[in-house]
This record gives sequence, structure tokens and C-alpha cells, in this order.
Amino acid sequence: MAGEKKYFYGPVPSRRLGRSFGVDIVPFKVCTLDCVYCQLGRTTEKSIERKAYVPAQPIIAELKDALDNGLKTDYITIAGSGEPTLNSSLGEIVEGIKIITNIPIAIVTNGTLLYRSDVRSDCAKADVVLPSLDAGDERTFKKINRPHRDISIEKLVSGLCSFRKEFTGQIWLEVFVVDSINTGIEEIAAIRAVIERISPDKVQLNTAVRPTAKAGINKLDERKLVAIAQSLGGNCEIIADFPPAPDSGPYEGKVDIGSNVNFAAINATKTLFSMLKRRPCSLDDICSGMSIGRNEALKYVTNLLNKRVICSEEKDGKVFFKVVS
Ligand code: SF4
Repeated sequence: MAGEKKYFYGPVPSRRLGRSFGVDIVPFKVCTLDCVYCQLGRTTEKSIERKAYVPAQPIIAELKDALDNGLKTDYITIAGSGEPTLNSSLGEIVEGIKIITNIPIAIVTNGTLLYRSDVRSDCAKADVVLPSLDAGDERTFKKINRPHRDISIEKLVSGLCSFRKEFTGQIWLEVFVVDSINTGIEEIAAIRAVIERISPDKVQLNTAVRPTAKAGINKLDERKLVAIAQSLGGNCEIIADFPPAPDSGPYEGKVDIGSNVNFAAINATKTLFSMLKRRPCSLDDICSGMSIGRNEALKYVTNLLNKRVICSEEKDGKVFFKVVS
């Protein structure tokens, strides 16, 4: 049986990466920003200081255990409960993962520390880097991303430009739009201007489909998203909904060998709780991430609801489940 996961979660369905096995390398919730749309809630420690929050060794050991137990995933994704580049062991973690598997590595980052050469060199060890850019001007940056006082939009953009020059892998830039904050003609034109400077391989447009840190953050309807995508230029895509669930489960074979049905249910409930600890999920997300049917997913959800360790929350008519804080 696979050991309980402390650093990894999933595989979870990712609109950008398919099936993603996530690794959480900073504690909740240490970040350089405090974005109004953050699905993790408010930033509790706003910092730009890099620290060895989680050392590389236990992460590599946990991944090795998952690989030995037949892990199937499209990407190993470094992200989690805050800004992963704040972990000063990031480069060592990526190198350690590369030694034990060929599964591509993605880093999801807000990009604010890429002005530092050590952060750029750590990120350059990955295959895909997915930074964010939600503003092209300082006023909008402050309004939507609520940055640490030492981070400015110019620092973010020039860091991204330097990284583009040095990194030979893929850069998929996420632009998150929030109605009435960064969706005006001027704000979108400013974002487009900095995208042209950065020259990412892809621009991926997103909006608030999950419960957010701040109340009243509204997702944009599809018509407006299409118009903004066109304004942002040719390589901009709207991030579609989750891909359909694949046929097989996240682990092949070995996990439940020798265990009985209850044991499997306990493991599935633990996996579900670990997924929900990282982000709120709808029933569809759970089915897709765990490759199980709705009835089975409902069984585990109901179990956790009855224990009052998770609760439900509605957003735009869709129900999401999240861990009770
Ligand atoms: S969305 Fe990302 S960058 Fe923004 S506050 Fe949340 S964790 Fe930090």
C-alpha cells in the first residue's frame, strides 16, 4: 500500500496540464501576493524572503514511493499552498525529481521573484513554467494582486523578460480576469503591451470559477472572455473546462493489493481530503481527479461531510467542497 502523502496531492485534474501530481513546497499560506481571486483564501504571511521551508529529501522519498506504486500522471507540478519559488530548495527539488523520473515537471508561480537570478536558474530546471500576469499597470496590479511592498509591476515584468531570454522550455502565461478590476479597455491594452515584451509560448485566460479569497469576485461570461482573448493576441486561449476522466485510476495495480474494500475506501477518503485541503473541488473535479463515478465520489464526500471536516459552498450555481478551516 502507498504511504500517506504529506507533500504530494492528487493526481488532480488541471485545466492546463491534464492530470497533475502536485507537490506543495511552502506552508499555507506564504506568498508574495494576496490576490483577490485566490482560491486558497487570504495570504497569512506576505513575504519575499526565500527559506528552506521543505527540504528536498523527504519530497523525493515520497515521490519515489508513489512511483513504485504505479503513479500515472501527465505532469509533476510544483505549486501548492502559496508561492513555490519562496522555497530556497526549489532547484534541488527539481533536480532530485529529474533523477528518479522522466515525467515532465511544471512550476506554477506568480513570477514575482523572477527578478532574482537564483530563482530564474531554479525555475529553468523545469520543463514548463506557468507564471501569472493579471495587470500591465501598477494601479491595477495593486488592486488585483495586493503585492508585498517591495514588488512592483515593473519588477515582475522585467523578471519575466529576463527569464524568457534564459529559459529554453515552455512559458505558459496565465492572465486571470476579474470583472470590473482588470477588464477595461485600458487595462487589457496594458496587459497586451507587457505580453508583447515577455513573448510567452502561450497565454491562458482564466476567470473565477471557484470560491475566492474576497467576496464578490465575479467570473466573466464566455462572450466577454472571447473578446478579451482576441484583444490579447493570437496565442491566447481560454482555459477550457476539465478534460474528461481517463479510464484508469491514478495508481495501477499495486496500491490495494492485499487490502480489503474498506481499506480502499479509507485510502480514497484520505486522497479526497488531501485534494480538498489544497483547493475547493466540485463533484465533477473529484470524479475526474480520482477517476471514479459520481456515486462513489458522493459516498466519500458524504462521509467527510458527516464528520464535519469538509463543507460545501456555492459559486455561480455550482457546488464546491472544501476543508473546514
Ligand atoms: S493566487 Fe497564487 S499568487 Fe495569488 S495569492 Fe494565491 S497563491 Fe499567491
